[in-house]
Amino acid sequence: MKRNIKYIAVHCTAGSQQQTADDLMREFRRKGWRNPGYHYLVTADGMIHRLLDVAEISNGVRGYNSITVNVAYTGGIDAKGRPCDNRTDEQKWALRLLLKGLREKFPKAVIQGHRDFSPDLNRNGRIEPNEYIKACPCFDAKQEYKDI
Ligand SMILES: [Zn+2]
Repeated sequence: MKRNIKYIAVHCTAGSQQQTADDLMREFRRKGWRNPGYHYLVTADGMIHRLLDVAEISNGVRGYNSITVNVAYTGGIDAKGRPCDNRTDEQKWALRLLLKGLREKFPKAVIQGHRDFSPDLNRNGRIEPNEYIKACPCFDAKQEYKDI
């Protein structure tokens, strides 16, 4: 199946930073999902794990999955469960590498965070923090990856 990819969405898992790809796949299965939430996962050690072929549809952004490639890093919450950007240096490096690779494959796709898919409630053309449906990925992916 050939998909028309318009977005590359960046996520956090909103779980433990020590989570492995196997842990996460088990979590998706427990939820009863046929496909995982993301195509790629970057673990705290900077390893890039492919969870699903990009030709398949993952379960990352409600309403956009058919035109989106979803990537995630493990973490994104502090010890109290509050949103925080706790990416390791290895994760930051690996995320850039992964996104550069996806950029070559999908030159026209927009790279943005999950939260940037939130509705622009006051229609000023920007998705602002008070409009976020969720904090994911807990950093400004649009800004950080604008050079990719
Ligand atoms: Zn997300």
